Amino acid sequence: MTGTKTIFKKIIDREIPARIVYEDELSLAFYDVAPQAPVHVLVIPKREIPSLAAATESDQQVLGHLLWVIKKIADDLKLDQGYRVVTNIGQDGGQSVHHLHFHLLGGRQMKWPPG
Ligand code: AMP
Repeated sequence: MTGTKTIFKKIIDREIPARIVYEDELSLAFYDVAPQAPVHVLVIPKREIPSLAAATESDQQVLGHLLWVIKKIADDLKLDQGYRVVTNIGQDGGQSVHHLHFHLLGGRQMKWPPG
């Protein structure tokens, strides 16, 4: 990929610190710096996919894997009352970091509709 590294790529490359909660060959998960809930973890692919909209058929396995990782982290963090998984896409979606990520939010009652 050309251009400047995203902040998440810098976290993958250990150029900036993060509170990592899970890592394997395909994925990395770490706490959000500006938490919106008592538990706010970001789960990202190590492969640089800018957003869900940019995913291709060849990304199917990693996409499924990321959801499985989210489920395992939620179990480990004992989010027994439930939780929310969000991915923001593009301008209308409110995406600010252009490296695919899923927000795992828990530890409080979520509201609907979202803002
Ligand atoms: P989004 O707005 O969906 O693109 O989400 C990007 C998220 O990344 C936001 O919730 C930010 O708080 C979070 N974030 C930005 N920089 C960092 C960082 N260095 N470490 C952890 N989370 C970050």
